[in-house]
Amino acid sequence: HVQVDPSDSTGFSGLPEEWRQILKSSGIGKEETMRNPQIVLDILEFRSAGCTRPAPPRAKDFKAASKDAVQFKLENPLNHIKSLKKAGEGSSGSVYIGDRLSDGRRIALKRLEIGKQTNIPALENEIAMMALSKHPNITECIQTFLWERELWIMMEAVEGGALCDLITNFCLEEDIVAYLCREVALALSFLHTRSRIHRDIKSDNILIGLDGSVKLADFGYCVQLTEEAGRRNSLVGTPYWMAPELIRTQYYNEKVDIWSLGIMAIEAVDREPPWFDEPIMRALFLITSSDPPSFRRKGMSTETSDWLSKCLLENPEQRWSADQLLQHKFLLKAAKSSKTAALVSEMREK
Ligand code: ATP
Repeated sequence: HVQVDPSDSTGFSGLPEEWRQILKSSGIGKEETMRNPQIVLDILEFRSAGCTRPAPPRAKDFKAASKDAVQFKLENPLNHIKSLKKAGEGSSGSVYIGDRLSDGRRIALKRLEIGKQTNIPALENEIAMMALSKHPNITECIQTFLWERELWIMMEAVEGGALCDLITNFCLEEDIVAYLCREVALALSFLHTRSRIHRDIKSDNILIGLDGSVKLADFGYCVQLTEEAGRRNSLVGTPYWMAPELIRTQYYNEKVDIWSLGIMAIEAVDREPPWFDEPIMRALFLITSSDPPSFRRKGMSTETSDWLSKCLLENPEQRWSADQLLQHKFLLKAAKSSKTAALVSEMREK
């Protein structure tokens, strides 16, 4: 049980010395422990388990857990919200932001029309993966509603836009890139420990809060590995971010997310993923036949380039895990969340 004491200069009071050292070597400081105590728990849980992952669940147990997690309320969600405004449009529906009447909490509502073409099991999977993945770096799924042939997903509102907007508007400094990479790696560590693969890591799917928080979104392609199906081979994701083994439709595991995290780091620095000017089929060919990409921007530090090279190792067995990446020196460069918050507010004033 970890208690964070605001009067303690390290934020680690009450923890054994050995644990303090682990946190320090992870570059986790007071600000992070205060804002995100889950980080402490994740790192310690992993270390105390001897750095071994729990085995994937049995398919039957996962099915039962998903069923529990996806409980649709059969009522009109609009009765619970005021000041609803449209925030964006996705391929499957619109997203609105408003205030929850019961407590004034800002929430986002995604509306999806249910038709003959709707793939209900895929939708249920998306909601279950999100609902089962409660973590400070993952957009929270609060409730789901079914009302008059429409499905509504109530989520926490993350109002600073997506990472791709930050990338379009600014040339991000290395310390911000380190911060963003660390926060996404924390979300991946959480998912991978639970044998889940997101399969669509890219800047469009990383939402930024007004306070600079970083939240993984869009669980449409997320999959739970199970005891019975411990690896996958389906071609799923967004082409320029796909790992070579996934493109080759070889059996793959959670390391495909790590490759995509590396591509997201390249986006954050160079504003677009490698091979973005190439047509999709050629890009897929180039990803599988070229040396792993590196940053095009000159003057990146050796720590940053080294961290990227560990994400983009061709061999998934050698490619670093999220937990290993979290221990890398590059992440000691991470800026405070307030620096990202300042960029968000500058972007909104533009
Ligand atoms: P899809 O892959 O289903 O097309 P998408 O990412 O294009 O998804 P949505 O996830 O439906 O679209 O999101 C549409 C818009 O709403 C995006 O601009 C996204 O930034 C915004 N949005 C999504 N979720 C939230 C949220 N929880 N809080 C605030 N804005 C959100």
